[in-house]
Order: sequence, then structure tokens, then C-alpha cells
Amino acid sequence: MSESHPPADRQTLAASLRDYVDQIREEGLDGLPVGETKDVPPAPEPSPSMAVAAPASPPRPSAPPAMGEMFSKYPGLEACGSLEHLREFIGDCRRCKLWPMRTNLVFGVGNPKAELMFVGEAPGADEDLRGEPFVGRAGQLLTDIIERGMGLPRAEVYICNVIKCRPPGNRNPEPDEVSSCEPFLFRQIETVHPRVIVGLGTFAVQALLKVKTPISRLRGNWHELRGIRMMPTFHPAYLLRNPADKRLVWQDIQLVMKELGMSIPKRGG
Ligand code: SF4
Repeated sequence: MSESHPPADRQTLAASLRDYVDQIREEGLDGLPVGETKDVPPAPEPSPSMAVAAPASPPRPSAPPAMGEMFSKYPGLEACGSLEHLREFIGDCRRCKLWPMRTNLVFGVGNPKAELMFVGEAPGADEDLRGEPFVGRAGQLLTDIIERGMGLPRAEVYICNVIKCRPPGNRNPEPDEVSSCEPFLFRQIETVHPRVIVGLGTFAVQALLKVKTPISRLRGNWHELRGIRMMPTFHPAYLLRNPADKRLVWQDIQLVMKELGMSIPKRGG
């Protein structure tokens, strides 16, 4: 008798494994444990001391492709001088394989002259339906961080994602999709030209900085992205699963507030 799994089972197994790997990556591990699992120590929980300690070895310097090289992928992109113009340029985009699966292209929202910009990974189901980034449960948590934590109206900041269309099943965007879509993100960044960017979660931060360093080593430290200060922190969706780490995000946000010259309330998060 054959023991092979039907295709649907294999797909489910593959999806579960992918979710597991995504989660441990978000939590700062580089790969799966090998060998007898009973001898493998439990994954370390991020602690407050990790927030302030220097990483064992500094993350590699960011080396994104030159802007001209990236923009030359789409002639005319560099000439987009406003967010409205850029949105028109993107149009009913079919430049990568995600377009047939989207309900709405999720461009970005907020103040076009914002001093603070949040960049996440890609739209989820709620965002795809509404055409707006960060509107589901994770979005509400981001709004709380901005409004209750920082004391800013959400409309005062700018919020967008690396990828503008929802990957099926909320899987991680694939390299060809990032390569197709990221010129739009970098044009958005150049157009808004914020003083500070907060990168939300492993994928967004690694895509922005072009590194493979885990988020737990990147967060809490300043990075530079084309002359703009950038603070990586955990994604709000991760915080929904790991609420104890909200305090680490609050520490990162306080560094951002300090950089922007904002007064920090005694209690927050
Ligand atoms: S993800 Fe980006 S490149 Fe792909 S279809 Fe959507 S807007 Fe176009």
C-alpha cells in the first residue's frame, strides 16, 4: 500500500512548516534545530537586556542597489514627484505574479510630508479588502502604538508596505515579487522623505536593509537607509502572538520619539 500523501495534505504540511519557520525567524533564530530535539535547549526569549546590549557582532552594513539602477527598471518612475503621481504610475499594476490574486492594490496612507514612516511587509486579508495598510488586528495595535503610545494622530505619519499586493495565504513575498515591487517603495520613501523610518518585522527590515540578520539583533539599534535614520522593531502581528514583547517595541519607539524630539510619557506601551 502506498503511504504517499495526497497533494492537498502535502500542501497543508508545507504551509504549516512554512508558518513555523516564519515564526522562529521572526523570533530571531536562523534555522531549524537538527538532531534529537530533547537535547536542544529552548529558544531564548528576548529580554530587556537584549534591547540595550550591543549585538555580538554588528549587522552587515546596508548595501541596497543604487537608486538609479532600481528606478531604471521602470522608465518614468524617477520622474514621479508626488505620491499621487506615483500612484498613477503604478496604475492597475501587473508587473509581478501577485496581481491576479489581489482585491485591491494597497499603496499607502498618511501624511505625504510625514516625519515618521512605518514600513511593513505586505497586505493581509483585511488590507486587501479595504485597500489600506494595517487595518486588521495588527493594524489596530500599530494605531495604538502611534496614537496612545506616541500621542500622534495616525494620519500624521505615513504607513505602507514593501509589497503592494497580498501574497496568497499571507505567505512571505518571494524574491521576484520584491524585486518587482520595491522600486515603488523606494520612490515612496524618496517622495515622503521622512526623518525616521520604523521597519516592522523581519521581512520588511531585511528587504529594506538587504541583510539576513534576525530582527532580534537588528531591533533597538539605529540603522541608516539612504541617509534616513531607521529603527527596526517587531511586527504588530508578532506582538499579538507574543504580547510580552510589547515592552521591547515600546523601548524602540521611545528611541524614535527621542530622535524626533518628542517628549516621552512616563508610562506607555
Ligand atoms: S505586488 Fe507590486 S509589482 Fe506586483 S502586481 Fe502588485 S504593485 Fe505590481
